[in-house]
Amino acid sequence: MSGRFLVTGGAGYVGSHCVATLLDRGHQVVVIDDLSRGHREAVLEGAVLIEGRCGDPATLARAFALGPFDAVLHFAAHSLVGESMAEPFPYFRDNVGEGIALLEAALAAGVRRFVLSSTANLFGAPAEMPITEDTPLAPASPYGESKFFFERILAWADRIFGLRYATLRYFNAAGADPAGRLGEDHDPETHLIPLALDAALGRRPPLTIFGTDYPTPDGTCIRDYIHVSDLATAHLAALEAIARGSRAYNLGTGHGYSVREVIAAVERVTGRRVPVIEGARRAGDPPVLVASSARIQAETGWQPRFTTLDEIIATAHAWRLAHPDGYR
Ligand code: UDP
Repeated sequence: MSGRFLVTGGAGYVGSHCVATLLDRGHQVVVIDDLSRGHREAVLEGAVLIEGRCGDPATLARAFALGPFDAVLHFAAHSLVGESMAEPFPYFRDNVGEGIALLEAALAAGVRRFVLSSTANLFGAPAEMPITEDTPLAPASPYGESKFFFERILAWADRIFGLRYATLRYFNAAGADPAGRLGEDHDPETHLIPLALDAALGRRPPLTIFGTDYPTPDGTCIRDYIHVSDLATAHLAALEAIARGSRAYNLGTGHGYSVREVIAAVERVTGRRVPVIEGARRAGDPPVLVASSARIQAETGWQPRFTTLDEIIATAHAWRLAHPDGYR
């Protein structure tokens, strides 16, 4: 059955891929995005873009006038761990404060389903892998803390107003739309895979490996990379699951890859060397983060379609070749 969804941050990396999945499945989509980090070109034809901040009353009024919405999917946020360690207050003010304005407007408009983009940063640096939904929460940065606060606010909205919500703890989003319509284009770019691809293609300086003395087999950090379109389908699965009650789900593939393994995969996929510099650790990086997504798989039947790093990187590479300057 076709529905209507309000997507904040729908011009951003993960949000735009989720909008694409919603449109592909025949749903109607309204996007709120201030285009501060997102791209107008990333909002596919068929979606309505309302330019503005998701905490701005006039923007919210315009958006909710286009309802009624079956659910709100809330992607808009500041989302860089390192930036949040230097400038914490926009993280608390906007990720929490604007989220509350959005949530109040959604409840006032009668919306009772809400999906939050949350993060593996909630878990800090746990001793045991993989990370399940029962792993204790210990946010490692103002970014993670801001998502933790908003998860708690959603829990109270459930208790008081009967809101059904899913909070989805993304591990490392990677890759690009397999149909080639969308990709990853951050400014500044800080993420490993796009930087490694650009280094291989000679479009950026050599890649700096942040730390080679971690307690891991090759000394570099291990992360769980999940394809951005698999994150998108997980949102739809979660929306169905919350009919039975609010949920928290971890989203990864369950496989961890070191920075050196990612570089080797980029070299296989591109057929080029990635020039590297071995540098110091980056503040706040835990040595290993690998998700267990057993809960969402068991409860909804969701499965990642992209299960190998090479497949994920191949989609990112294809988009980069077609869009060497990103959306510009
Ligand atoms: N990384 C790196 N060099 C870079 C960017 C990232 O070595 O130029 C490492 C980073 O320390 C982390 C991993 O690559 O261990 C993934 O980092 P990214 O910023 O892509 O995602 P994060 O894990 O911070 O969400």
